[in-house]
Amino acid sequence: MKIVKEFENLESRSIGFVPTMGALHDGHRELLKRGRAENELLVLSIFVNPTQFLEGEDFSKYPRTLEEDIKIAKEIGVDILFLPDVETLYSGDEVSILAPKIRGFILEGKGRVGHFNGVLQVVLKLFNIVKPHKAYFGKKDAQQLILIESMVKNLFLDIEIVPVDIVRDFDGVALSSRNRYLSKEERKLAIKIPKALTTGETLLKSGNSLQSTKRAMLSALEDLEIGYVEIRDRNLNLLQKFEKENTIILIAVKVGKTRLIDNIWL
Ligand code: AMP
Repeated sequence: MKIVKEFENLESRSIGFVPTMGALHDGHRELLKRGRAENELLVLSIFVNPTQFLEGEDFSKYPRTLEEDIKIAKEIGVDILFLPDVETLYSGDEVSILAPKIRGFILEGKGRVGHFNGVLQVVLKLFNIVKPHKAYFGKKDAQQLILIESMVKNLFLDIEIVPVDIVRDFDGVALSSRNRYLSKEERKLAIKIPKALTTGETLLKSGNSLQSTKRAMLSALEDLEIGYVEIRDRNLNLLQKFEKENTIILIAVKVGKTRLIDNIWL
């Protein structure tokens, strides 16, 4: 495996790309395995992107576990591990990318104005440097995945975005680099999140209204500080009623000081 801070694509082989912020876990592993199986060359990037963190968020505290990450990358057969410096990617006063006016500023973008501008900006830069044929993103970050799919379509980028299912822990909690912030007790409380999602799934599939489903989910999440519980279609528009194969239930909560997101695609 080559580890590089600068990347030059001179490849004629098919390239699969997995962009991450590191602190790799089995969710990232799943993306990498798919990428390994489907491409001749597999590129992993680890970059904690300052422009997607807002004032007061955990940018400086974000877990950085490079030694471990390198081991995982080698084990899976990553060909190139790209570790850009901030100065390589950003030059200061520069052209910016604006997330879609509506879908970029709801859910994760609502309390965190500018977050998706930063996400799309860094992903576009990384795409232009790595020039992948396929890029792998987790459904865990549903809104991010949908906005990246939109960017690829709207800007006519020649890249296939491959969505990957959410990888969960033994008790249903979605794996996340931020789970390591949780105390033992908080980790137990977090089980309420996947439970609320499966409650939502059962209720919607058995014909309950969106409102009553949402109410039941909110009570399943008691004791947690709720950011949002929303039921939307796969393009993030509001729904009037449950639509099979076109519904996502999205949750954001705070468990102690840690903000966690999760969702289910129905
Ligand atoms: P991050 O390092 O948190 O920016 O995540 C990098 C990629 O891994 C993103 O595409 C995430 O959606 C994906 N990812 C994170 N957690 C999971 C998970 N539990 N299951 C599947 N994909 C995930």
